Amino acid sequence: MRCPGQDTMYWGPEAVCETSCPKCGGPIEFFKDESSRRCRKCGEKVLNPKMDFGCAVYCKFASQCLGEDMPPELLAKRTDLLKDRAATEVKKFLGRNFRRIGRMLKVKEYSEKIQKAEGGDPAIVTLAACLSSIAGVSSGIEGDGARFSEEDAASAQSILSRAGTPDEVASRVLSILSNPEGPDRKDDLTNFKCVADAVRIAEAVEALKSGQTAGTAEPADPKPLFTETGRKLMEQVLNEK
Ligand SMILES: [Zn+2]
Repeated sequence: MRCPGQDTMYWGPEAVCETSCPKCGGPIEFFKDESSRRCRKCGEKVLNPKMDFGCAVYCKFASQCLGEDMPPELLAKRTDLLKDRAATEVKKFLGRNFRRIGRMLKVKEYSEKIQKAEGGDPAIVTLAACLSSIAGVSSGIEGDGARFSEEDAASAQSILSRAGTPDEVASRVLSILSNPEGPDRKDDLTNFKCVADAVRIAEAVEALKSGQTAGTAEPADPKPLFTETGRKLMEQVLNEK
């Protein structure tokens, strides 16, 4: 498949590059804008060695162009970039609501720790974690455990699109946020648990802090957590306070 941004009119002979298949050694010819091609001898999918995939980190057509051929280090960079952009957009949305910005950073940090140990999808977990902190903000109801309303979902949708989130990722993130009983897709269950635990830990820390400030006794027992990593992290974080 060709990159939609290229013009082939002025190409000379240097536009073709010859290489050999890493699997069988058979010859393969690439046009310079071709990201990948199947070896005619053995059928192996081979990436164009001359192509600079650096642009694919930013190019929104990259997944159309490269699909599953995208090199793993490139995929990781795209994921990092998307996470950063999403966090920035959520911060912009929260404006001067520093309590919620602080919450977002904590939930993001906790969710990423849990995700690393429990599995799940790093992009979906981080995006949902960042967006969880906008719950109730649009309608001015910011109590703990605020449900993610339709209004919040609409705000989340536009934040995700400003961050350049692919549609499928955005709809999975919204499904995690909008369903307190669990996401639509079974394969998002781990992602859901990572985010839910991170939110609960952040809420428990905030409750403990406000209890300390007010000089009241122990806060109510925190909600139970889904994951073992979450339980350990909660213990560790609360002990530090
Ligand atoms: Zn081959």
